[in-house]
Amino acid sequence: MKNNINLVKGTHDLVGSDLEKYNYILENFKNISDKFSFKEIITPIIEQEELFVRGVGEMTDIVSKEMYTFFDQGEKKICLRPEATSGIARFAAANYESGFMKLFTYGPMFRRERPQKGRYRQFNQINIEIIGDESFYSDFEVIYIAYNLLESIGLKNKFKLLINSIGTKEEQINYSKSLYEFLKLKKDQLSEVSQQRLEKNTLRILDSKDLNDQLIINTAPRLKEFLSIKSLDFYKGVKELLNSHGVEFIEDDLLVRGLDYYSHTAFEFQTYEDKRQNTILAGGRYDDLISLISSRNIPGIGWAAGIERLIDLVSIPEKPIIKKSILIAVQNLNYISEYKLINIVSKLDVRFEVKSNNNIKKLFTYADKNNYDFIALVGEEEFSSSSIVIKNLKLKEQKKILIKDLDLSNEIR
Ligand code: ATP
Ligand code: MG
Repeated sequence: MKNNINLVKGTHDLVGSDLEKYNYILENFKNISDKFSFKEIITPIIEQEELFVRGVGEMTDIVSKEMYTFFDQGEKKICLRPEATSGIARFAAANYESGFMKLFTYGPMFRRERPQKGRYRQFNQINIEIIGDESFYSDFEVIYIAYNLLESIGLKNKFKLLINSIGTKEEQINYSKSLYEFLKLKKDQLSEVSQQRLEKNTLRILDSKDLNDQLIINTAPRLKEFLSIKSLDFYKGVKELLNSHGVEFIEDDLLVRGLDYYSHTAFEFQTYEDKRQNTILAGGRYDDLISLISSRNIPGIGWAAGIERLIDLVSIPEKPIIKKSILIAVQNLNYISEYKLINIVSKLDVRFEVKSNNNIKKLFTYADKNNYDFIALVGEEEFSSSSIVIKNLKLKEQKKILIKDLDLSNEIR
């Protein structure tokens, strides 16, 4: 006996109703992306490790702990992408000319996290990005698309939208200093992870999921007190557009997101469930990202949603099945080639399957059990008279037809 080979920890197969939901989400996502004039891009799954070290940031959990990195035959360090935005930014750095570059993508991402419901090591995301626009209209547009996508897949009233402005890099640095001074005094009370971050990346502490850390953070100085008039005006512009278009949101001045490259608008769509995996879609503006990974400086904004988390929430509306189904049932497989049955049936817009069994009764039972609309039967008797039986299983009507006279499209309606 050989041992079974199991899935790699934190991975899963997508089949059956989950895969139907995956396709349903993707179809809605592609439709809305197209409506707003986004173009599809597929970037590689492997990238240079340096892309994420410089883009996402060395001190983030993603880069410091969760990347699947390896030496490519002793040459450069390669990794499985943990997210899609950096790859798109790399593309834009090389290919952006002028105006707006509006792109959407989807596919698998890899993070070596502790697997839980809604948290996997290989998971799928959908992403949209607008590169090249520094006006707040684009912040509004990507949030508007996210909101409408979630509504279009039946999640109306099942999520809340949290937004914040985290200002410019400079404002973040000033705030960071003040936060550092505040937290330094309470260092002993912070979680181990936050203590490590205190010296190297203070701002990330706001992102802590530790409850005690959160209590301390609640009394800390706020980032918004450090925003310039210009940053506040920008934020106001986004909020006004959202308000005027009926997109409801909650301002959350602790929202900073887990990646280093964000500036100005940051947002998350969360369900009302009280669990850590309740963020279904998240994003923000990344005006500095492209300058971190290239010699160019081009603004951008975008978001990503976890498809597996959406799959757990959606139910697909019942669609009437229009395609008829037909069971090609033969007593002997030779009859198929004699009658060239597959050539005949594959020309029609039907769903079909071939079954061979010496016992005709079993063929009928199979057709009934699997809810076929029609059965096309060739038994010994039919074959000897060069004919075929077509039975409408719903109406319980059947006909025997000479194979030379058979017009299947006429029978299958
Ligand atoms: P979280 O706080 O849940 O770890 P994140 O801030 O790390 O999420 P992002 O990097 O912003 O997530 O990715 C965007 C979305 O991708 C998340 O909102 C979530 O829906 C999904 N996602 C992130 N990590 C995972 C994972 N390990 N498994 C499944 N989905 C994930
Ligand atoms: Mg995470």
